[in-house]
Amino acid sequence: MKLPKDKGDTPTLHLCRLCGKVVRNKWHHYRYHNPEYFKCSLCHTVHNRKDHLKAHMKIKHSIDSFSSSQGQD
Ligand SMILES: [Zn+2]
Ligand SMILES: [Zn+2]
Repeated sequence: MKLPKDKGDTPTLHLCRLCGKVVRNKWHHYRYHNPEYFKCSLCHTVHNRKDHLKAHMKIKHSIDSFSSSQGQD
């Protein structure tokens, strides 16, 4: 006869490394920090895909060699 040590009624909590907040759904929360859109730095239009932004840069701003500007904001 076994008695369960803990009932498991404590929800799985996750500590966010980015803001220190304790959240239930880390994936949902991380989307808040890293939303899946790409913003044009020149005219501030928002694109939901990186290649859309790339095409936008080429068509609207004549910038062909758009590279991911990581760390620049
Ligand atoms: Zn967070
Ligand atoms: Zn633009």
